[in-house]
Formats: sequence, C-alpha cells, structure tokens
Amino acid sequence: MNRPKKSLGQNFLQDKNIIKKIIDAFNPTENETIVEIGPGKGALTDELITKKINLFGVEIDKNLCEELRIKYPNLQLVNKDFLKVDFEKDITNTRCRVIGNIPYYATSQILLKLFENHRLIKDALIMMQLEVAQRLISQPKTKEYGILSVYTNFYSEAKLLFKVSKNVFYPKPEVDSAVVHFKFNEKLELNEIEIELFRIIIRTAFNQRRKTLRNSLRKLINVENQEKLKFDFNRRAEELSLNDFLYLAKNFKP
Ligand code: SAM
Repeated sequence: MNRPKKSLGQNFLQDKNIIKKIIDAFNPTENETIVEIGPGKGALTDELITKKINLFGVEIDKNLCEELRIKYPNLQLVNKDFLKVDFEKDITNTRCRVIGNIPYYATSQILLKLFENHRLIKDALIMMQLEVAQRLISQPKTKEYGILSVYTNFYSEAKLLFKVSKNVFYPKPEVDSAVVHFKFNEKLELNEIEIELFRIIIRTAFNQRRKTLRNSLRKLINVENQEKLKFDFNRRAEELSLNDFLYLAKNFKP
C-alpha cells in the first residue's frame, strides 16, 4: 500500500453516509456517460460502478491506477493529468456528466478546464474546499467576489448543495469542504473574440480591484472611448455584475 500523496491532494473520503449523499445528489441515470475526476481509492467509484452507466475515471497517480484496474475491470481509466486531458480524444465526444472530489491544489484550474469544455459537459458535481465554493457563488460587493465568481456565473448555474466536515477524510485536511453543482450553459452570450476580451477585461480589472475601472482599465480602453460608453467607470471591479462585464466585452474599443 502506498501512502497518500499530499502533493496530489490525496484526502480520501471515509464516510459511507457522505458518499451516499454525494451520489444521491448527483443521481446517475441509466446510459449516461459519466467522468470521475480523481477516483483515488474508489470511494465514489464503488457506488458509481454499480450503476448502468458508461463510466470513465481520470486519475493522475500511476500506483492508484494499478489498484483501480484490479478493483474495477469495467472502469474506463485514463491515467493522465485531468488538466492535460483532451476531452474528445482521451475520453468521449458525448455530452457527458462529471463528478469528482477534486484535489485542493488544482481546484481553480480544474474549474477553468470544466468551463472551457462547457459544450461537452452537461453538468458537474464537485467537492472542493468550502472557501472556494463560497467564492464561486458570491455576489458583487462582497470580499469573496472575484474572477471565479464571474466565470462561474457566465458558464453555468451553480449551487452550493451542502458542506462536508474535514473529519470525514483520511488524511484529514486543514479545511472543510463543500459540494457544488454546476449546470453548464451549452450556448454562451458572447462569441469567441468577445470571450477573449471578457477574460482580459476581468483579469485586468480584478488584478487592481481597489482601483476604479477608469484607472485599472485605462490601458485597455482609453479614456476617450470610456466616455463614449453608457457605463460608470468610477466603480471598482468588485461592484460589477456579470451583465456589466458582458457589456464591456460586447462594446469594447481600445
Ligand atoms: N475520489 C477519491 C475520494 O473521494 O476518496 C479521491 C479524492 S482525492 C481528494 C483527489 C484524487 O485526485 C486523488 O486520487 C489524486 O491522485 C487525484 N488527482 C490529483 N491531481 C490530479 C490531476 N491533475 N488529474 C487527475 N487526478 C488527479
């Protein structure tokens, strides 16, 4: 038996009731294609494998993959870094569902990867640290509100379903967790060029979140063009709603 690897965020779920609560909330249904991120030692896989679904697992750890192959010969296992996975090539081109108790060290990157693949993913049930979950669903004018909140709102409808105590993991992490459900939008309100601008505007604005947009965005949108827009640039990034950012991306002139 190998020891849990801290560097890979290996905190394994131990509590059968919580496992059942997560699977019930996800509600896998016959014939669905489901991708599990980081099956680990199989806490969730154990339940998922009993359903009549088309199940994939993406696990980075080679040793755990060897154990998983023996335990679940029917699991379609991809021994790769989820962040490097090409959904269509490595997993499936069917619009799938995703589930995962994901490693803390890569939470934001995994979420961004899911957002980027919104066309290929119907929904996802993700367990993550509570603090990040709260950021995702936070509203403007709060200190939790930031880049991830705007992205979450743009790409999905997200709900924090329930909190999970750190005591149900081994090894025990330092923080509590939460389970979040994302229903991804298949179509987005912006075209590809606008999305690129949307991302740049959000990053630039939140990088200097204490400055007014007049100043933080000055290098992107010059003052003359700022004045042509029906938009109050005296606000700060954290005061803007998703619609405000959409307006800036759609009406962008440098
Ligand atoms: N699902 C198991 C459970 O609930 O007990 C394990 C959860 S553990 C928090 C995270 C799992 O993700 C570990 O098995 C770890 O090896 C795996 N992992 C970490 N980084 C990964 C990555 N970049 N791509 C795929 N799997 C990863």
